[in-house]
Amino acid sequence: MKILPGSTIGMLGGGQLGRMFTIAARTMGYEVIVLDPDVNSPAGQLATRHICAQYSEQAALDTMGRDCDVVTTEFENIPASTLEQLAADCPVRPGARAVTITQDRIHEKTFLQEQQIPTAPFAVINSEQDLRAASESIDTPAILKVSHFGYDGKGQYGISSAEQAQQAWQSLNREACVLEQRMPLDVEVSVVLARGVDGQVVTYPVAENIHEQGILDISIVPARIDDALKQQVIETATHIANELDYIGVMAVEFFVSNGKLLVNEIAPRPHNSGHYSLDACVTDQFEQQVRAVCGLTLGDTSLLSPVVMVNMLGDLWHGGNAPDWHLLLDHENVKLHLYGKQQARPGRKMGHYNVVADSIDAALILASEIQTRLHKPASPV
Ligand code: ATP
Ligand code: MG
Repeated sequence: MKILPGSTIGMLGGGQLGRMFTIAARTMGYEVIVLDPDVNSPAGQLATRHICAQYSEQAALDTMGRDCDVVTTEFENIPASTLEQLAADCPVRPGARAVTITQDRIHEKTFLQEQQIPTAPFAVINSEQDLRAASESIDTPAILKVSHFGYDGKGQYGISSAEQAQQAWQSLNREACVLEQRMPLDVEVSVVLARGVDGQVVTYPVAENIHEQGILDISIVPARIDDALKQQVIETATHIANELDYIGVMAVEFFVSNGKLLVNEIAPRPHNSGHYSLDACVTDQFEQQVRAVCGLTLGDTSLLSPVVMVNMLGDLWHGGNAPDWHLLLDHENVKLHLYGKQQARPGRKMGHYNVVADSIDAALILASEIQTRLHKPASPV
């Protein structure tokens, strides 16, 4: 059954992804209830209603279950029990299984291994003994990654010796981890896709991603890799979505290492590397999430123009002052998106801008010119 405008969509998580979803859903005439414990939640500001509570709070879940026609999520760290409980009252898309697998690196990598999808060599660390064995089997340099609740490179330590692995694991409170070989990277790419209630899959153009200190810095679309590799990216991501019986928008991050494609991670939600779609595609990834979770026909994902997306981190708020917006707004082909976050902290994603142009080269030149100027603190008047 299609869930039509006028209905209410529940959003678990109220960050920037939830905010951009909320904008899309409200534009299309839906009501949105956001559940997020942060009083200043970026999505909560724009929602029909913001329930300010923990994700496991019973009264909040009762209200969501009663008042929502469908529930979706903007981040993977929602407790599985929350999703299962809500599913008793209304459709939850994506479902608990898909989120449970993708929220835990051990489950995720084990799932990929079962599907015979290549990843960087890794070992599961649950004990001292596992760590000793892994230090033998995984080549250095390696990265120790906490299994749960990692994002933007948090909960990760570079490892070059067995002793260092020990120390890093202590720093991670001996929590479950994966030790992963650090691969030489030709390039990083990702693809966003949507899978509908009927199993139909549409994919977005593949993005080429450049990270700085574990955080996405820019995405270049279309990615500058050959067509055969793009095809492999699309086929692998589609296979994953089908195997997860996924409903909604999902992204898969890949490494290209010595010409070989490896899956890095799966995100059960729209993705930072898909923000280019807001200004460069017929249907952006957030409208697509509305369409997918409401059982509507999936939108056209065609790219209208080459585009470069640049993230704006809190580091650009020099001394707490907002950047000089003229640097962005004076360009007719630069599109600014801000997330409504009150406090700028180093590494915090505050917004992004998309540069659309006739060619990738032209977009890249302007994007990096703006980026350089934004990084310089304004000179005193
Ligand atoms: P996010 O959820 O924001 O993508 P995350 O905390 O889950 O971040 P990862 O995707 O695991 O982090 O890693 C972030 C970045 O660090 C990668 O995009 C890549 O640039 C680098 N990286 C991570 N693992 C490896 C690896 N095994 N080999 C080489 N580079 C890596
Ligand atoms: Mg990642």
